[in-house]
Amino acid sequence: MNIYANYDLKNQNTFHFSVKARFFIEVRHASAIPTLRQDALLSSLPWQVIGNGSNLVLDRDLDCVVIKCIYDEIHIVKEDADSVWLSVGSGCNWHDLVIYTVDKGWWGLENLALIPGTVGAAPVHNIGAYGTEVQDTITRIQSFDLRDGARIELRRNECNFAYRSSIFTQALANRVLIHRVTFRLRKQATPNLMNEVLNARLLDQYESIEHLTPRQVCDAVIAIRNKRIPDPDLLGSAGSFFKNPFISSTHYHSLQAQYPDIPGHKTPDGHIKVPAAWLIEQVDWKGKRIGDAGVYDKHALILVNYGKATGKEILALAEQIREDVINKFSIALEKEVVTI
Ligand SMILES: Cc1cc2nc3c(=O)[nH]c(=O)nc-3n(C[C@H](O)[C@H](O)[C@H](O)COP(=O)(O)OP(=O)(O)OC[C@H]3O[C@@H](n4cnc5c(N)ncnc54)[C@H](O)[C@@H]3O)c2cc1C
Repeated sequence: MNIYANYDLKNQNTFHFSVKARFFIEVRHASAIPTLRQDALLSSLPWQVIGNGSNLVLDRDLDCVVIKCIYDEIHIVKEDADSVWLSVGSGCNWHDLVIYTVDKGWWGLENLALIPGTVGAAPVHNIGAYGTEVQDTITRIQSFDLRDGARIELRRNECNFAYRSSIFTQALANRVLIHRVTFRLRKQATPNLMNEVLNARLLDQYESIEHLTPRQVCDAVIAIRNKRIPDPDLLGSAGSFFKNPFISSTHYHSLQAQYPDIPGHKTPDGHIKVPAAWLIEQVDWKGKRIGDAGVYDKHALILVNYGKATGKEILALAEQIREDVINKFSIALEKEVVTI
């Protein structure tokens, strides 16, 4: 276990905001929790779990204990002719896990390549991309109560997974440290090519998409993402800043009368999901900046730090965008990022 006092989190968040944590603690084993709880000062402060800080906006110094799990081992827990079950430490880098699995020829994570962050954070917001969500492959999650280190083990159907949310953003929000996640991956599968851009790229690249490998799909995802999404090591961001909103079909049709090209995807419960990026483009924020806080010019959903922007400046920019979208479309964008 490593304990740092008054620690600058600049290299622990992908916006690269320089804010200090009163204590920053890296733990490997869950037994660290009851040990740390025995310390009166640490125990008197609020605790905040982070991973790689790729979905965070830090807008002030944190008078709390920031805790990060660095346990990153990968174990095969079960295997049959059809599938393999992997138990993965929450500190494992997400993209490294994806590459490990596609190189083995296992299906399930290939569409989620290049998403920054850790394995432990993946179920929290139920990360998703190119028609796949991580909930599709998770079978169980082992976590520990931050108050006393009691073990809490959940099966997939107990996690309340939904679009960018789970029990870890609801009832268990900041209550547990996720320590291990188990995934079921398939040895044979049909690629998920629901996403039109991914489908078109693969059709363009290969004569037949019938015999694709997970690695080929993964490489296509990487190529697409590299064109549209900034590398957080070069340009600070937290990926999509807002969630795509769901609106009623009545609301959608009234907007469609005014804006005939408004995109929308019908959901099974009858709502319409509208791409937040389109809404932001319509209020003319794409590519704009206020000081060092800006909207990425290749993707309107990504707010970026061009250098010295603070968390407060990024949040102020986000608020202006939100207001403009409400005024034009009567749609209230909700943040996908977490503000601590
Ligand atoms: C360039 C870029 C592209 C992105 N693209 C995508 C994308 O395509 N799809 C997508 O879904 N997301 C995307 N994201 C968002 C981000 O990568 C994910 O949300 C990722 O899962 C965050 O992981 P993290 O380890 O950085 O978590 P953090 O940002 O550190 O934390 C996120 C949340 O998870 C909680 N948490 C973290 N670790 C644990 C743990 N071990 N136990 C309990 N709680 C924990 C934190 O408390 C916090 O609430 C992108 C981000 C960037 C910067």
